[in-house]
Amino acid sequence: MSKVTNPDLPLPAPRANDAQGLAASILEKLTYEVGKDTIVARPHDWLRAISLAVRDRIIDNWMESTRRTYEDGSKRVYYLSLEFLIGRLLRDSISNLELMEEINEALEQMGVSLVEIAQLEPDAALGNGGLGRLAACFMESLATVDVPAYGYGIRYVNGLFRQEIADGWQVELPENWLAHGNPWEFHRRESTYEINFGGKVDIIEEGGKEPRYEWKPSERMIAEAYDTPVVGWRAKRVNTLRLWSADPIDPILLDKFNAGDHIGALEESTKAETLTRVLYPADANEAGQELRLRQEYFFSSASLQDILRRHVEQFGDLSLLPEKVAIHMNDTHPSIAVVELMRLLIDIHGVEFDTAWDLTTRTFAYTNHTLLPEALESWPVPLFERLFPRHMQLVYAINAKILLSARKEAGTDDDAIRQISLIDEGGQRRVRMGNLAFLGSHSVNGVSALHTELMKDTVFYNLHRLHPDRINNKTNGITPRRWLKECNPGLTGLIRESIGDAFLDDTEKLQALNDLAEDSSFQERFAEIKYQNKVKLSNLVGERLGTRIDPAAMFDIQIKRIHEYKRQLLNIIEAIALYDQIRSHPEMEWVPRVKLFAGKAAPSYHNAKLIIKLANDVARVINNDPAVRGLLKIVFIPNYNVSTAEVMIPAADLSEQISTAGMEASGTGNMKFALNGALTIGTLDGANVEMRDWVGEENMVIFGLTAEEVEKARADGHNPRQIIESSKELSQALSAIASGVFSHDDPGRYTDLIGGLYDHDWFMVAADFDAFAAAQREVDTIWNDRTLWNVKAIRNTARMGWFSSDRTIREYARDIWRA
Ligand SMILES: *Cc1c(COP(=O)(O)O)cnc(C)c1O
Repeated sequence: MSKVTNPDLPLPAPRANDAQGLAASILEKLTYEVGKDTIVARPHDWLRAISLAVRDRIIDNWMESTRRTYEDGSKRVYYLSLEFLIGRLLRDSISNLELMEEINEALEQMGVSLVEIAQLEPDAALGNGGLGRLAACFMESLATVDVPAYGYGIRYVNGLFRQEIADGWQVELPENWLAHGNPWEFHRRESTYEINFGGKVDIIEEGGKEPRYEWKPSERMIAEAYDTPVVGWRAKRVNTLRLWSADPIDPILLDKFNAGDHIGALEESTKAETLTRVLYPADANEAGQELRLRQEYFFSSASLQDILRRHVEQFGDLSLLPEKVAIHMNDTHPSIAVVELMRLLIDIHGVEFDTAWDLTTRTFAYTNHTLLPEALESWPVPLFERLFPRHMQLVYAINAKILLSARKEAGTDDDAIRQISLIDEGGQRRVRMGNLAFLGSHSVNGVSALHTELMKDTVFYNLHRLHPDRINNKTNGITPRRWLKECNPGLTGLIRESIGDAFLDDTEKLQALNDLAEDSSFQERFAEIKYQNKVKLSNLVGERLGTRIDPAAMFDIQIKRIHEYKRQLLNIIEAIALYDQIRSHPEMEWVPRVKLFAGKAAPSYHNAKLIIKLANDVARVINNDPAVRGLLKIVFIPNYNVSTAEVMIPAADLSEQISTAGMEASGTGNMKFALNGALTIGTLDGANVEMRDWVGEENMVIFGLTAEEVEKARADGHNPRQIIESSKELSQALSAIASGVFSHDDPGRYTDLIGGLYDHDWFMVAADFDAFAAAQREVDTIWNDRTLWNVKAIRNTARMGWFSSDRTIREYARDIWRA
């Protein structure tokens, strides 16, 4: 077949990687690809030329990796994710190719600054938060640890919205990341698949044989592939991120056009364009619209057709599928893929039902990311049936098989059967995507030790009893390339000088820094790098917001999606209490602090948007009060994204990881901060628990209710009003907010928000307040002994190596994918 590689044809000669060769390449790209003379080239032209020159170097490795996988016939991993929060790629690519010095030298000759040009690259923000960023870290680590892998997702034309702050309120604007073109992607016009919706199913009975089912869809469109190469560290391997874009089959309906209906003629185009236009901006809360379900099916179906085509081309035999293919579902968003694989195997490839189910479950694995009930996906049966009539039949058939065999297990009563079923029969009937993902997979994992245990006791209680070996834990990790080497070159340089380069290939080698933690000259250099990073952040805050902040103050940072369970509100209330304390006791020696916040709220999430407004209202009052000038400042940095995180994290002294215990599945922001030498103030939630085990309890400040205590308090009906009234600091702060001290223009603005704390306090803000305030004063005490602080900060960096996503990916490869 012409598509299969012919090993007799040599690959083209690799590109020159020295400064001269790179300079020549960049000039060639500027001239012949961008079509610009150096005399008139603008910064964006240089960005494109440099990116294309770098891309050539990636391609050499890409081809080599792809060939190698074909030739050795190894198993491929397919990572299905509705989100990939990638960020910028230029610096990451140069760094992983190890061409930073050479490129800088080449550009210096031409009078171009890489730092300035690299900042023009838009963030690829095809994700909301932690889940999407995890997918991006995983893609980089898969290439780094040499696993042949494809990421599959959607090429959203508009990624996550751009956030502006107007009069303290969040305003959402469309993010047009493709406006200047995207030099990293390859449009594969030949890799297209038909994706269908709606219609009906015909049963075809031929004498004596099993009936066949034929889906007669009412809507059809095309999925087209865009490939982005993903470079591993030291370019050991380059994998592919394949993102799908929807296209109409008939861009113009000529009969309508000729009849004068010029708008109606574009109906198909509009429908397709709409499908992959925007990313749903909800993070850990429901986005239950029809378009979302269509997006989920669209990318699942395209990916599966692509996977089967590649498998059949190379191996022929579908019975080999579980041996050669591992499909991983990042949360339930792609879980309709389980049914789609069944459909393709049965209806297209003629595989018998039980065999198809066996192949499917041995091929799929699923990661659960949240226990929040509002984030567990389920779809109304009538909607599911209307869009996917054949899939609905298969869901019922799978359900019958499962419930029949579950009935035979001892101890499965009617209630257990109801919980296990793929159909939620309570009220409006719904298809449960979590159960589908669980039952369609041979492995179901949580993302931290605590979260995995809670999964067994809560969402998957009955399914776990039925399949006690299926749930396993894979604690999340972060790529140390982006989140240490690239974002913190100062610290990376110091570490290399001090303990050598081994940590660049094995992050756990950072442990060698433990021996230097007590060394005063090392402490000084470590602290000086932190200070310089804080100067950079101060400059950014000055430029963007016109607010002056002092890099000598403690930088106390909480950056993440705005969500009630993440408890930005607790942090803001504590800031108000501190403000009151400073004003009441001006004679005391207060630790100068800058509290920085950043994060986006889902546009439909009323309380989250109100919390952003509150942060800005409080900032205005405190920052303008001469009584606390120099001691306390509050800053809200707009438009949190990967690039902002890369500047803020290396500049943090204190990392706020204060979610209500039991509610943050893992967190990865917590890991980024600690790796960069910030101390964590946090609850025993998510991966904080394991971070404490690694960095040592004495090097973190842990406070608050445990997950068990939260559960008990909720079950026993705790009394927040009583808690509030017994805490003078808390009741004063809450009264100030509720009575309009920070909102003279609308004194009632926060009445309901604060009322919720008195009323139910679901997120335990009141319950944890005193413990949090005390923990903050403990932080002050440590800060006042700067040597002690530095020792703890160094020990954080030294002991966070285990949280590399390389380790996580090796565990997935060993235990789940067997790749
Ligand atoms: C790491 C990261 C997150 C996740 O942060 P958490 O604190 O774990 O919620 C979200 N957004 C961006 C841009 C990130 O880099």
